[in-house]
Amino acid sequence: MKMSIETVGTENVVQEADVVSKLSKDYYWYSPILDKKLNNKKADYVIVPDSEETLKAALQLAVNEKIPVTIRGAGTGNYGQAVPMTGGVVVDLTKLNQIKEIGEGFARVQAGMRIRDLEKNVHITDQELTIYPSTFVKATIGGFVSGGSGGIGSVTWGNLWDGNVLEAKVLTMEETVQEKVVTGEELLTYIHSYGTTGIITEVTIPIKPKTRWVQEVISFAHFHEAFEFSKIIAESPRWKKRLVSIVEAPIPTFFRPLKKMMQNHEEHLILIEIAEEDHGQIVEQALNWNGKSIHTIGAEDYRKGIGISDFTWNHTTLWALKADKKWTYLQNFFSLEKGLAQMEQIKERFGDEILFHVEWLKDRGKLIPAGLPLIKYESKERLYEIIDFFNEIGASVNDPHTYLLGAGGWNLQLEAITKKKRENDPFDLLNQEKLPAYDAVKGI
Ligand code: FAD
Repeated sequence: MKMSIETVGTENVVQEADVVSKLSKDYYWYSPILDKKLNNKKADYVIVPDSEETLKAALQLAVNEKIPVTIRGAGTGNYGQAVPMTGGVVVDLTKLNQIKEIGEGFARVQAGMRIRDLEKNVHITDQELTIYPSTFVKATIGGFVSGGSGGIGSVTWGNLWDGNVLEAKVLTMEETVQEKVVTGEELLTYIHSYGTTGIITEVTIPIKPKTRWVQEVISFAHFHEAFEFSKIIAESPRWKKRLVSIVEAPIPTFFRPLKKMMQNHEEHLILIEIAEEDHGQIVEQALNWNGKSIHTIGAEDYRKGIGISDFTWNHTTLWALKADKKWTYLQNFFSLEKGLAQMEQIKERFGDEILFHVEWLKDRGKLIPAGLPLIKYESKERLYEIIDFFNEIGASVNDPHTYLLGAGGWNLQLEAITKKKRENDPFDLLNQEKLPAYDAVKGI
């Protein structure tokens, strides 16, 4: 089935097989399990609307002709969120990238705007974003809201569902495509919902007064000292921070640009973004934990060239994969009080099959050492043995090896999301097969 392309203008349609194939993929290949399942999935063609009117016309046609629609930002998601499972059309929103309004404390922008461009524009007003993913150079704000969770800034401002989205303009896939403005609790049926409940065309996010951030890398001989000191930084209300990450040795040896700053290959690192006025104190206090500053990027060079965040969040996994394709990863929440003990239990059981990478973040108001551990992949069975062990000891996993919304965890409001999908997408055209029947997810 093919929609009458002329209606949306041939200049907005991509049909070349190799480009369509490329735009049907995201970063699912981080997971050997997803790689196997999603490798051959492909849209029939891609629409890249250059205006909201064209987008609306394309969606109306898809409804009329019952064509599956998968929305795409930059396609940097890790769980195959943007992969069309049943063909149809991928709608790439990167041309809908205009600023609508930046005021004191808020920015309202089109969903396809790249996050780096957004932060640049917000900087002009002496303000900055609260949270953003480490893929900010490519990723779109609509893609982050629909498929991401948190990132740089989350140690202070929490995740997407912690007040970091104020309003969204959404198009539905009802018989006649409707536009809705969504605020408050209802936003939770769109955030991290993989575009299964509607198409976000505009997002309003909170912004904060701009800070001069210094980037710092501190090296430690012992992981527990690195972890304890990172916890002090993350917990302390005295110090203003945007990023607090810890990586266990030998992960730092995967970071080629940082490797030359290290004295040996057994160093564990903390990577931080800290307010300029607090930087001196941090470096001084690190000495009490036998931590040594090995690399500093001054505030004047913030976001010029490669930055510290390029080694954090899921960029850590990317560096590991570049070093050895056998690595994959997990996402989990360690306990604030017993995190180190949990990690010791894991080490005892699995040894160097697992390397720890922790991002400090707030989730629903609670400070959490969130794990993005590297796993040396052996088999699906072994991976789920590891996941089961993490869950057993209370280091609960948000499984990144599934494309099914809800099966991955994150404590989503699945019942409300399912209800919203039925309301907004009665013909089940949006991102088919990503939202399993609610009852199935609950195992009923
Ligand atoms: P896409 O991948 O294009 O889309 C994501 C999902 O949202 C898909 O389901 C898509 O269908 C849907 N979607 C996209 N736009 C819309 C829209 N306007 N309306 C409705 N649905 C839409 N994630 C984090 O949260 N934090 C990180 O720090 C982080 N680091 C990463 C590092 C690396 C190296 C990689 C590869 C990934 C990382 N990710 C991270 C995952 C991903 O990069 C982010 O979530 C990013 O924000 C996704 O944006 P995108 O524009 O690429 O979205």
